[in-house]
Amino acid sequence: MFKALIVDKAEDGTVSAAIQEINADRLPSDGDVTVAVEYSSLNYKDGLCLTGGGGLVRNYPHVPGIDFAGTVESSDDARYKPGDRVVLTGWRVGEVWWGGYAQKARVKADWLVPLPDGLTTKQAMAVGTAGLTAMLAVQALEAHGLKPGGRPVLVTGAAGGVGSVATAILAKLGYEVAGVTGRPETEEYLRFLGATALVPRADLADAPTRPLDKESWAGCVDAVGGAMLARVLTQIEYGGSVAAVGLAGGAALPATVIPFLLRGVNLLGIDSVMKPYEDRLTAWARVGTDLPMDKLETMVEMAVLSDMPNLGKAILKGGVKGRVVVDVN
Ligand code: NDP
Repeated sequence: MFKALIVDKAEDGTVSAAIQEINADRLPSDGDVTVAVEYSSLNYKDGLCLTGGGGLVRNYPHVPGIDFAGTVESSDDARYKPGDRVVLTGWRVGEVWWGGYAQKARVKADWLVPLPDGLTTKQAMAVGTAGLTAMLAVQALEAHGLKPGGRPVLVTGAAGGVGSVATAILAKLGYEVAGVTGRPETEEYLRFLGATALVPRADLADAPTRPLDKESWAGCVDAVGGAMLARVLTQIEYGGSVAAVGLAGGAALPATVIPFLLRGVNLLGIDSVMKPYEDRLTAWARVGTDLPMDKLETMVEMAVLSDMPNLGKAILKGGVKGRVVVDVN
């Protein structure tokens, strides 16, 4: 028997979550590695899965938790043996497959990554899906020519999970970072992470009224989407890029193509869920070298399974700062 946070849907459509003691035979039978989970984390998508939003969870009862780190307990796959330390993000685990908000998980060996050198399972989940995706976004900007020494790089949703990690990585790499936030009270926190300028959310909240604005940013990691992304595109310097990561502010893009045509601006799509294994290894290795662990520590709030229903609602309202690590035991 082990403990799991089970989300269920009542006949009237209400979704609720409760901790239950369940038997290991309820784990997905078509997985091939069983992991004793130590930590999971809270991401925006977890907020959706905990509350029944976005149509992400198809079958109930369900165990959410889109990422986890822990120790292999048993394995039918030659690549993993009991005692191996592993981390999982993506592959729709916690959405269509039972996830990490439980003391055990059973998944496909293809989805696992060995715990990166130098990271504990707790640090791996402090990074989690949000942090790994921030790393992927920075790598995409670099691959499109971003180099330190120029104009500042903008990070939207800066005090959130993706934004906090992106800010700390970019600052460590020598970039000037401007953080967009709707929470002025996070200024000290964001400056500690390495932001040298703060941009009030309201300054970029409205869709652009003209096709091009002053060239202000060398690039952008965007966790917000919507009108803000459209606005940012008009302010990117000639040849610069925006890594589109999220939609915390909306999925619509009220933009024109003018920044692409007249300034050669690039809009780079970032997906962490289906990222091939080799790219995950590279991104995790970069996390190890480019994300200062003291900064990561200041981002973290610890939680337990019983906190998750409330935290799930809070993250959807933009009310969570940095990263929440879930101790499932
Ligand atoms: P968080 O809630 O931690 O961060 C989002 C931040 O965006 C908030 O903290 C807030 O920052 C800002 N924000 C929230 N609501 C609004 C709004 N209405 N308008 C403008 N800004 C807003 O979430 P995560 O960091 O976990 O995820 C961020 C986004 O990235 C989500 O949309 C998520 O789905 C996506 N994502 C995508 C991945 C991928 O593979 N493409 C992987 C991981 C995440 P502040 O208070 O500083 O303004």
